[in-house]
Amino acid sequence: MCNCIIDNEASTLQWLKDRAGESALIEKGDASNGFQNLVVNMRTGVWRGHFDYRYNYQRIKKDKTPGRIEKKTIAVHFTYCPFCGVKYEA
Ligand SMILES: [Zn+2]
Repeated sequence: MCNCIIDNEASTLQWLKDRAGESALIEKGDASNGFQNLVVNMRTGVWRGHFDYRYNYQRIKKDKTPGRIEKKTIAVHFTYCPFCGVKYEA
């Protein structure tokens, strides 16, 4: 089990602050900032990332013709931590 996502979020923010020096104010701001596409495992408390996979979906109607095109998205969760390679618990 690792805490890399939370740790790397803090170190990424610090890296941005160090890089800007006195030329800019860098803050995380509200909770919608930071790494995106994260979910927390409610049982383990570990954060993990995912890719959103978007696709077109057309239901086949009873008369065998395709229905209207709908945009759908599924989340494909990382099986391993992208930072340290530890396998996540299911
Ligand atoms: Zn990790």
